[in-house]
Amino acid sequence: MGLVVMKFGGSSVADADKMKKVAARVIDKKKQGNRVVVVVSAPGDMTDDLIAMCEKITATPDDRELDMLLSTGEQVSIALLSMAIKKMGQSVISLTGPQAGIYADTTHTKARIIKIIPTKILKELSRRKIVVVAGFQGINPNDDIATLGRGGSDLTAVALAAALKADFCEIYTDVAGVYTTDPRVVADARKIHYISYEEMLEMAGTGAQVMQGRSIEVGKKNKVDIHVRSTFSPADGTIITSEEAITSRRGAMEEVLLTAVTFDRNQVKLSVVDLPDIPGIAAKMFGALAVGGINVDMIIQSAAQDKRNDISFTVSRSDLKKTQKVLGKIRKDLKAANIIYDKDVAKVSIIGVGMKSHPGVAATMFTVLADNKINIEMISTSEIKISCIIDNAAVNKAVTALHAAFGLNKRQ
Ligand code: ADP
Ligand code: ASP
Ligand code: MG
Repeated sequence: MGLVVMKFGGSSVADADKMKKVAARVIDKKKQGNRVVVVVSAPGDMTDDLIAMCEKITATPDDRELDMLLSTGEQVSIALLSMAIKKMGQSVISLTGPQAGIYADTTHTKARIIKIIPTKILKELSRRKIVVVAGFQGINPNDDIATLGRGGSDLTAVALAAALKADFCEIYTDVAGVYTTDPRVVADARKIHYISYEEMLEMAGTGAQVMQGRSIEVGKKNKVDIHVRSTFSPADGTIITSEEAITSRRGAMEEVLLTAVTFDRNQVKLSVVDLPDIPGIAAKMFGALAVGGINVDMIIQSAAQDKRNDISFTVSRSDLKKTQKVLGKIRKDLKAANIIYDKDVAKVSIIGVGMKSHPGVAATMFTVLADNKINIEMISTSEIKISCIIDNAAVNKAVTALHAAFGLNKRQ
């Protein structure tokens, strides 16, 4: 008998049939003698559809109202899933994020969970009910509903598992686990059995949609082992856990050089052209972007010529309008000649703790891209990651080539 948090993503509850399959799987878990808390995302592409509806009204919505809109998708799922579970004869209750005691901060659309008071969840569990919680939402200090960033139902699940001291945190999705690269792009990608929080964080941060990055931070901090697995198959998936736990399991002999190749098509490159080369310019520009709540990813500054230079950086596509607005306001102040942007870029990255002890990995990556005639526009590195900005049209070619070159394919 244990306490299990089961999270089902949008594709797992996309229609009535899938919803019924999820209900049966949840009931099974209960019948095995567990107390079960279920977290669900909005059905299918509903969150995207809601954003599209909003865009027909305004390009710059009020963030509070946007959260009011986006949070409705998850409420559709909790109600329908609870109906399906009840119809199959089990006692169940649906709860919104606020009802479940999930408290968030005031950063609308990207809120963090500040605390969870799971009194109501525990009460309903003690009544032997299955508790179905809406993912991706919480209540903020102004008593407003706040959403937790795209993919935020993962965060709800992991944070609930931590708060409830759950025995298992299971993330059910439309792939069988975390793979060496997106299996939709490279058919012979391999399922990874164990992956460290650090590597998963880098994967999430470089575009592997399978888990939201912030959920991994919370898992790491609270030592929650996360099991990513398929909604539609009973097979084991991937366990996300600490590096120490993995090393003791794999043994040092099996240490792998590279764990995964990722890509992110959700990037835009902006270049602020012909700036004065004097102290304080970068501080002014990135300070203004930070105040605007814009996350800047890669940055490159060209060598100065005649005391002038260019600064280029990338932001996520969804922040482009906001970024242009901020830059437009400070352009005169910066004395920049021009601001240009390029939407046709993407980021490819290679990730692996093995990189720490093996030199030459970056050189191999650049050679593979060069051999495939792919130009590198920007580069950034961390201890366990190397990322390059390239032409969006070359992403599949780059990912396939890197995946093969580093021996990540099934057959190798
Ligand atoms: P859910 O709706 O269950 O939250 P997501 O769409 O957010 O699911 O995440 C699952 C998707 O992540 C998969 O369908 C897959 O295409 C994509 N993905 C990208 N990179 C990877 C990877 N390395 N391993 C597994 N899936 C990946
Ligand atoms: N429905 C939200 C989204 O699409 C949250 C989630 O799916 O985890 O981002
Ligand atoms: Mg997701």
